[in-house]
Amino acid sequence: MKKRTKIIATVGPVSNTSEKIEGMIREGVSVFRFNMKHGDAESHKERIERVQQVADSMGEAIGILIDLQGFEIRIETRESADICIRKGDILTIGSSFDNEDANVVIPQDVVFQSLDEGDAFFIDDALLKFFVKEKREGSIIAEASNGGTIKHKKSMNVPGKYIDVSSIVDSDLEKLDAMAKSKVDFVTLSFVRSKKDIAMLREELNKRGIEAGVVAKIENKHALDNIDEIIDASDAVMIARGDLGVEIPIGELAFWQRKIIYKCRMQRKAVIVATQMLYSMIENPRPTRAEATDVANAVFNGTDAVMLSEETAMGKYAVETVSAMRDILCFNEQFDVFEKVRLELKNPTDFIINSAALMTESRKIKTDMAAIFTETGYSAKTFSAFRLPVPVVAITSNPKTAEIMTLYYGVTPIYCSSLTYEFHSSELILEKLSKRKLEIPEEAMIIIHGQHRERSEPTKNALTFVSFNS
Ligand code: PGA
Ligand code: MN
Repeated sequence: MKKRTKIIATVGPVSNTSEKIEGMIREGVSVFRFNMKHGDAESHKERIERVQQVADSMGEAIGILIDLQGFEIRIETRESADICIRKGDILTIGSSFDNEDANVVIPQDVVFQSLDEGDAFFIDDALLKFFVKEKREGSIIAEASNGGTIKHKKSMNVPGKYIDVSSIVDSDLEKLDAMAKSKVDFVTLSFVRSKKDIAMLREELNKRGIEAGVVAKIENKHALDNIDEIIDASDAVMIARGDLGVEIPIGELAFWQRKIIYKCRMQRKAVIVATQMLYSMIENPRPTRAEATDVANAVFNGTDAVMLSEETAMGKYAVETVSAMRDILCFNEQFDVFEKVRLELKNPTDFIINSAALMTESRKIKTDMAAIFTETGYSAKTFSAFRLPVPVVAITSNPKTAEIMTLYYGVTPIYCSSLTYEFHSSELILEKLSKRKLEIPEEAMIIIHGQHRERSEPTKNALTFVSFNS
C-alpha cells in the first residue's frame, strides 16, 4: 500500500549507519532530521553526507532538516550531582555557584533576572514543578510542588514568561556557518515567538547562501498568540508537542494541534506533528494503543507529516518504529475523514488547481493521479492541501523544489533536469513513473502545467484530463 503522510525520522547514534538509513527510507521516511542540540557540526555534516549517498543510490528524493536549538534554558546542579526533592522543599537558585547558598544555577542571567515572585516553573520536561516564593539579591527561593530528582543540565520551562533574548543563539549561528556548504533543505527554529524570529532566520540563511525552507517550531504561548503571522512568514510549521505540552496546559494540546493543522492547510504551508508519537517503541517492539490512535488522529486532523525523535535517534527499534508508523498511516489514510478545506482562490493558478481538485473529488469521474509540473512548488502545495485520495507527482526541473516537496502530503517529487513542452504528454509521464517504479494511474490522470516560454516569466496554467478508458 502506498503511504501519503510523510514521515520525518531523527538521525542519532542508533540510526547513523547506511544500513539503518536505507531501512528507514524503504519503510517510508521522506525527511531526515538532524538535531543541533546534540553533537557538533562536523558529525552532523558527515551524517548528512551518508544520508545523501544512500538516497542517491536508491534514486529517492530525500529532504534534510536541521533543527536549531534556539533559546532553551538548562539548569545546572552543584558538582553535577542529583538533587532529591520532596514536596514542599525549598530550593535556592543562583546565577552562578559563587553564590554559596545555591544548589541549582540558571546560567543565563537574563532568565534569572526575569523570574518574579509567584512565577511557576518546570524542570526536566515538567517532571518537577516549583513556585518562586521570594526573590533576594542574587538568589531565588523556590518551593517544590511535587517530589522527584533534579538532574544536572535538565531543561527548564517558565510558561508564559517573555524573556527578552534573540531566538537564534550564537551556537546556532556557528552551526549554520559550518553547515553552509552541506545539503540542507529545511531549517527549523525552536521557540519561535513572532514573525520577526522567522525574518531573522531568513536573513541569517541568506547571508550564508543557504537555500532552505524555514520551519517554525510552535512550542509556547507566545507562538500561539502570533500563530497566523508565524504561519504566514514560514514555509512550514512544526507542532512541537514536547515543549508545548509543558508551556500550556496539557489538556489544550489536541485542540491546538487540530487548529494549527487546519490553519496551515488553508495557507498551503506544510505542517508537522512532532514528539512522543511512538515513544514507547524506544524500548518496546510494539506501540501502545494510545500511540497508534495518536498517529491515526494526526492523519484525520490532516497533517502533512509526522515526526519521530528519540524513537529513531536512540531507540532499540528504529526501523521497526518507522514501519509501525507507516502501517498506521496507510490504513487510516484510506478513509475520507479529513476535515474539508475550501481554499481562498487568489490567482489563476488557484482556480485551475481548485477545478482539478473538485474534479478529482467528484465520484462521477474516476481520477487516480494528478501530475503537476511545478517550478516553485506552489501548484503542488495547493493541490496537496485538499488531501485527496490520489497520488500527486510534482515534476520539476528545480532540484530544490523536488527536495521541498518531500514534506507535503501525498506528493512524490520527480526531478527532471530539463523539461520541454513535449513533457506534458501522458506517455512521457507514464514512462517516468514506471522507470521510478511508482504507482501508475489506471483510469484517468489530471495533468496541470504552465507554458513557460522562459523560466522566469509568469506561467499560464492549463489543465488536461487524460482518460485511459476511452
Ligand atoms: P525538541 O522539539 O525535541 O527539539 O525539544 C520538539 C518538541 O519540543 O516537541
Ligand atoms: Mn522543543
